[in-house]
Amino acid sequence: MRVRAAVLEELGRPLAVREVDLAEPKGGEALVRLEACGVCHTDLYAASGADPTGYTDCVLGHEGAGVVEAVGPNVALVAPGDQVVTLFAPECGNCVHCLDPRTNRCVAIRDRQGEGLLPDGTTRFSVDGEPLRHFMGTSTFAEYTVVPEIALAKVSPEAPLDGCAPFACGLSTGIGAALYTAQVAPGSTCVVFGCGLVGLGAVIGCRLAAADRIVAIDLSESRLREARRHGATEIRLASNDVVDWIRSETGGFGADYTFEATGSVKVMQQAVEAAREAWGLATMIGVAGKGETLDIVPRLLITGRRVTGSSFGGVKGRSQVPALVDRWLAGEIDADALVTARIALDQVNDAFQAMDRQEGIRTVITYG
Ligand SMILES: [Zn+2]
Ligand SMILES: [Zn+2]
Repeated sequence: MRVRAAVLEELGRPLAVREVDLAEPKGGEALVRLEACGVCHTDLYAASGADPTGYTDCVLGHEGAGVVEAVGPNVALVAPGDQVVTLFAPECGNCVHCLDPRTNRCVAIRDRQGEGLLPDGTTRFSVDGEPLRHFMGTSTFAEYTVVPEIALAKVSPEAPLDGCAPFACGLSTGIGAALYTAQVAPGSTCVVFGCGLVGLGAVIGCRLAAADRIVAIDLSESRLREARRHGATEIRLASNDVVDWIRSETGGFGADYTFEATGSVKVMQQAVEAAREAWGLATMIGVAGKGETLDIVPRLLITGRRVTGSSFGGVKGRSQVPALVDRWLAGEIDADALVTARIALDQVNDAFQAMDRQEGIRTVITYG
């Protein structure tokens, strides 16, 4: 079939929105008609050429929500008509990591996915007979895509799909970091550095975990207001002395849990230093730039602070994303407020520019 898609043809150049060919799903794969897709920093990072693992030509996009239209042979997990969220972090259910409750790092199709290929080593997208690679195993900047069935979370048929899209990446990443990676204990004091979609997700996760104090820190007053809406009990403009302030607010000790959601290694350092002596846990969620390293004074660790991190918030996609969507439908998560702009696929490059200007929280492409 012919579908419209946003194609990365050259690193550092705008995406080309054009018609491409999409082949039928093969064994273990499903054809998904996208209804919505969030525009994430990782798409921009890959398109800019800054990502050392980036490649062309490929169809970008990985924060998709849609409906299964057809399935290939030997598909058991989804069926036509199912509402689904795409998973760049799939869940096969059988590999050494899927079988362990401590992680979501499924290894089933990882190598092929990193090469921009489906598990059989080929692509379903093409242009003039030339293969066009997939991106993060999902390629959701397209009207339709083909993905492995293990990369689809079946969500409630009641859920509006534009609000589901943020659960495919940023929102679940933040919520999961608090609920599954850090496992925030009730009554805790938490500090979240950075209030984009991921950081706001962490604020939401801390609230769902019944934290007592949730301090949000950002450079933007408007983002801090958003943080309050989602559950922050205190807000503070980012500054060089923010660690001293956090310590002074916590009897000199620091916070039980800190979360870093900016990707700046300087802020990561603050998150480690602001974690409480004795048991504080600093969770790294932001993606740092190529070649950057995090400096930690070892004394901070031998006095009991711990440092961890996760990808996709440690969320096991097929098992746990549907429950997060249900919590939105139950009114516990205000996903609607996080979608601050809706655009057509043709405007995807404008969305990248808005992201560079730090406008809004999440722009979602809707496919009409
Ligand atoms: Zn993302
Ligand atoms: Zn697995």
